[in-house]
Amino acid sequence: MEQRIPIMSKTLIVLCGPAGSGKSTFAAQHFTPTQIVSSDVCRALISDNERNFHINRDTFDLFHLIIQKRLKLGRLTVADSTALYPFARTPLLEMAKQAEFHTCLLAFNVPFAVCTSRAGQRARQVPIDVIANHCDLLQDTRQDMHHEPWDQIHELGEDVTGVQFVRPNGSRIPMRRKT
Ligand code: GDP
Ligand code: MG
Repeated sequence: MEQRIPIMSKTLIVLCGPAGSGKSTFAAQHFTPTQIVSSDVCRALISDNERNFHINRDTFDLFHLIIQKRLKLGRLTVADSTALYPFARTPLLEMAKQAEFHTCLLAFNVPFAVCTSRAGQRARQVPIDVIANHCDLLQDTRQDMHHEPWDQIHELGEDVTGVQFVRPNGSRIPMRRKT
């Protein structure tokens, strides 16, 4: 199914979904490495370990700082984190508002079994109970997100091959990498 998502250059795109739902893969298919700010990369940059959850505070300080600096420069930015709690989404919405950016939430509504199977293929393993919790949180998010001030909200499924980003004039933004 085709899903066209219009974006202008001053947009903060926020990915949201369980571990293994395909957020980082999707981001890499559509955006340049510098447009994507990943909480896992921030975690690794300061601790050499993408799964070090003892440093969440510093990880998200860095994640927010990079996003804020990019928005200040007017750069389209993709925030790649699970963003499954309202307290994770609120600062992103606030930063965008401050910088007069549009906001676009992409919720990856991917079934638990698919997330666990995909996450199981990765080198860095995520415990199954963590993914189960993420999937529960996603269902809460799917309700909450409609009460939050996003300019656009799109739900993506497990098959994202039909997703296209388009400019406000309707012209297609080419994909970086084919699936
Ligand atoms: P994230 O945790 O949401 O960032 O998920 P990732 O993007 O890291 O994807 C998790 C795993 O699923 C990786 O091994 C990907 O190669 C795989 N994956 C991601 N998207 C797809 C997809 O659309 N189809 C299939 N078959 N595998 C995918
Ligand atoms: Mg990821």
